[in-house]
Amino acid sequence: MRDFRCLHCGHCCRMPGAVWLKDEEIPQIAEGLGLSVHDFTDQYTRLAPNRRGLVLIDAPSGACVFFEEGRGCQIQAFKPKQCSGFPLEWRNADSHLTCAGLIALRPT
Ligand code: SF4
Ligand code: SF4
Repeated sequence: MRDFRCLHCGHCCRMPGAVWLKDEEIPQIAEGLGLSVHDFTDQYTRLAPNRRGLVLIDAPSGACVFFEEGRGCQIQAFKPKQCSGFPLEWRNADSHLTCAGLIALRPT
């Protein structure tokens, strides 16, 4: 997996699922956006399904609210660790079928 390279296909930002925010990431992302913690959490987060933290809201398309088609992640410089950890630190059972960077590593 040393040779993995993100090919910016955007699948991981479009796939359904929760983008969890660690407590310490919330002020960092708020600051990066130039918002107060209150305004960031109010505008861009919701309670996680298990009610034990906050996750990013989805855009109407179902993609992450910060994903822009053709431009990618709009908070790239300060995105959550969950995002920067994909797919090397964690992945789903079907990630090898959907992540362009993983697909490119498959033997032909
Ligand atoms: S925060 Fe950025 S990298 Fe993470 S899912 Fe949203 S658009 Fe993708
Ligand atoms: S699915 Fe894989 S190749 Fe596509 S943007 Fe995400 S990490 Fe990069």
